[in-house]
Formats: sequence, C-alpha cells, structure tokens
Amino acid sequence: MTRGRVDLGCMRCDLSGKRTRVVPGVGPRSSRIVFIGEAPGKEEDLKGEPFIGRAGRLLDLALEEAGVRRSHVYICNLVMCRPPGNRRPRKDEIRTCTSLYLEPDMEEISPQVVCALGQTVAEHFLGRKRKMKEIVGREFELTLAGRNARLFVAYHPAACLYQRKNLANFKNSIRSSLEAAGLVQRDARR
Ligand code: URA
Repeated sequence: MTRGRVDLGCMRCDLSGKRTRVVPGVGPRSSRIVFIGEAPGKEEDLKGEPFIGRAGRLLDLALEEAGVRRSHVYICNLVMCRPPGNRRPRKDEIRTCTSLYLEPDMEEISPQVVCALGQTVAEHFLGRKRKMKEIVGREFELTLAGRNARLFVAYHPAACLYQRKNLANFKNSIRSSLEAAGLVQRDARR
C-alpha cells in the first residue's frame, strides 16, 4: 500500500524493523511552506500522522497564534519511521529516506520556504554541524530541487516542552517563516 509516493510497507532501512507505522507528510501539495521535523515520535508511530503528540500540539499552537490552520501547510519529517527509543536517525537512514521520499516530495511541492524544526533538520539542509544558538531564528538561502528557496531554522517544539524559555523564540521563528511564505502579514511591531 502507498500514500502518495510513500510505501507504507517500506523496508529500505533499519528503522523499518521496530516501527509500527510509516508516517508520511500531510498537507496540501500546493503549500508554499513546509515544516520538517526530525522523525516521528511514539504517538505518530501509532497513528501514522506527523506531529500529533505533545510537540505537535506546540506546533499547532504557534500556527494558530499566527492565524494559520495546520491543514493549510505541509508538515513532514526527515525520516518517516520512528527510531527506537526516539534516538536520532543515523546519517544512512536519513540518506535513504530523504532520497526515496522527501526529495521527490520537495520537487513536486516546490515550496518557497522550508522551516527546519530542530538541529538535525537544520544540519541536513545546511550540510554541516552548527550550534543551534548560532542558527535558530535565522534565514538561509537554499537550493531545493534545483530552485531557490528560503530556509528558516526553529527550535524543535519538543525542545520547548522542557525549556519553556525557548517557546517565544520558537513561535517567532514559525511566524517569520509564515510571513516569508506570504501566509501572514508582516507584523510591524516586530
Ligand atoms: N517530533 C518530530 O520531529 N516529528 C514528529 O512527527 C513528532 C515529534
């Protein structure tokens, strides 16, 4: 069975062994912005949908406060299966999954803006390790599927569950990325 181009029975990397469900991206394929997380967590693994657990509720809150419905943007992960114990996905797993699924999806969706949620995703797009405090809230140029796009880096919402001081920064980054995509008006007070 497939959803879009994603094989729901995919066995192409080690993550397939322990997952319950493959978790494909959700949202309109005409979206001008995509939010990309690291990997599905426990609830996502059980239900097959990205960002529906506690971290997802913070993403929903940030979108809602900016005046955008979750269903109006594309939300996905670098890898589509939950790593055991929520460990970071390995480089080979990221390479396999992104080349099979994320990259063809980005080619089709062709977003103007990518919002990277957390360090692993930011590093994937920036091509090297960076300290989060140096890149969070910033914008970078990106070549995505042969086209120019804008990359925004936000804290992973899970990082705000334990460090509430990151929450305002997270919400600001989400809003800035939505402004860049033209989904909300620029806030003159910021
Ligand atoms: N964390 C992620 O990075 N993605 C999810 O879908 C859920 C939690």
